[in-house]
Amino acid sequence: MRLEGKVALISGGARGQGAEEARLFSREGAKVVIGDILEEEGQQLEAQINETGGECLFIRLDVTQASDWQHAVEATVARFGKLNILVNNAGIGSRRTPDGGPIRLEDLTEAQWDQVQDVNSKGVFLGIRQVIPEMRKAGGGSIINISSIFGLVGSPGASAYHASKGAVRLLTKATAVQYAAEGIRCNSVHPGAIDTPMTERLRSSPQRREEAIRGIPIGRIGTTEDIAYGVLFLASDESSFVTGSELVIDGGQTAQ
Ligand code: NAD
Repeated sequence: MRLEGKVALISGGARGQGAEEARLFSREGAKVVIGDILEEEGQQLEAQINETGGECLFIRLDVTQASDWQHAVEATVARFGKLNILVNNAGIGSRRTPDGGPIRLEDLTEAQWDQVQDVNSKGVFLGIRQVIPEMRKAGGGSIINISSIFGLVGSPGASAYHASKGAVRLLTKATAVQYAAEGIRCNSVHPGAIDTPMTERLRSSPQRREEAIRGIPIGRIGTTEDIAYGVLFLASDESSFVTGSELVIDGGQTAQ
């Protein structure tokens, strides 16, 4: 029960890493709100967690909309009385060529650039801005922003994604410095290659999967559990002296 008595809001929590975090947080004693644009998946997960002894609420949340964030935070407090933890997990990948290859910067449209920044970067800003007053009322809190190893290093494509995840890395540190005195911590998590619906198509061919694994010293693709346990540590009071830090969970990919 590492999160006993805590209330957590997880954006993009209907599937993938966010859903794993929702299930783990619930098992560890937290009341969990999942916000996502995927209503069917979100409602199914809500029912699943409630049926297995947890307390979960699904809310439709488009992270690019300030009014959706306001509603999500108000509904969280109305239902569970407070808000202690925010996981800014919602995200979208970069466009790729039809066969899954990288798209170069010069072939990227402004609309594609803006869409990725809106969800991956602005969405995180809006979420943090909305929860600060509630965390202040609760006497502190923990914000975990899901960046990526693509927020640390470059690659042959994915320019918009790299920029958006790099922004999340430094927005995290700025938030950490500004709110540390109020007991509000903020850390970023940098997953490497993880098996989720986002990367399904990318690794559908055995050849591409093999290529990806070759770059990972631990010799496998990561699981949603690998990430969820890192996020759990940062969400819990076990990490009470940790703020503004970067937790890389990538099987050693960026260590070489
Ligand atoms: P995923 O696609 O399974 O999950 C992303 C979730 O975000 C989905 O439920 C989706 O509906 C939601 N979402 C997308 N746009 C949204 C919006 N506007 N408002 C609200 N929700 C929205 O992928 P995932 O791998 O679980 O991704 C989780 C996070 O991890 C993302 O931020 C992603 O960029 C990051 N990440 C993933 C990997 C990987 O290899 N899978 C690696 C590094 C970082």
